[in-house]
Amino acid sequence: MSRRPLIAGNWKMHLTLDEAVQLAKAVATASAGCSDRDIMIAPAFTALAAVVAAVKETHILVAAQNVSWENQGAYTGEISPVMLKDLGINSVIIGHSERRHIFGENDAMINRRLRAALDADILPILCIGETLEEREAGATLTVLESQLRGGLEQVRKEQAARVVLAYEPVWAIGTGKTASKEQAQEVHAFLRQFLEGLYEKNIAETVRILYGGSVKPDNIDELMAQPDIDGVLVGGAALKAESFKRIICFR
Ligand code: PEP
Repeated sequence: MSRRPLIAGNWKMHLTLDEAVQLAKAVATASAGCSDRDIMIAPAFTALAAVVAAVKETHILVAAQNVSWENQGAYTGEISPVMLKDLGINSVIIGHSERRHIFGENDAMINRRLRAALDADILPILCIGETLEEREAGATLTVLESQLRGGLEQVRKEQAARVVLAYEPVWAIGTGKTASKEQAQEVHAFLRQFLEGLYEKNIAETVRILYGGSVKPDNIDELMAQPDIDGVLVGGAALKAESFKRIICFR
């Protein structure tokens, strides 16, 4: 089964409005000839509307970096699925390690966000990943299994096929330390097998699994050559048009 590659850039809490629009336009230009892959950028909430407008005539997907599980109400600081749809946003990052570890989001919250996104027909990218401590204790697969079970609770088979997973070892995010291609492939293959047990083979083979953690121009090709790596979620290297361009144009 061939899965369409997805290259996603997470801009985190970076870039002013003008900078975001400029970078979005540069990404659109850089990806002009690449119709065989999905390219996604995730600006901060403040730049979403302007970036959607800037890439309107292109095939670039624009994602939010989080979403509420409620559509409206007294939830200060939250942004709802309805609000995202209103801006023309059809994808969202959920459960990023910074949300989990800095802001205390747990699997139950992440699961509610994920189900709200699916109900609103917004494509969710569910991030999971172990800390260095957990890896060194030999608990990587147990941790991932539990994050996956928790994140996908009550998600039906038909909905699961629309989820994108991102395996992002916490120790590799923003640290310059990338998981080796072998380490990443081993985990991705495990996740696919786990999905098969949770749902069925067809779902496991449909779901795209991205790798994230210090992806750079010099490691993108070897990562994308792995059979179970269907794309990447990129932080730092997505903030510069030149480096993101090289990542988009992986060979
Ligand atoms: C991320 O933010 O999801 C990420 C992987 O960051 P970086 O590429 O900078 O490690």
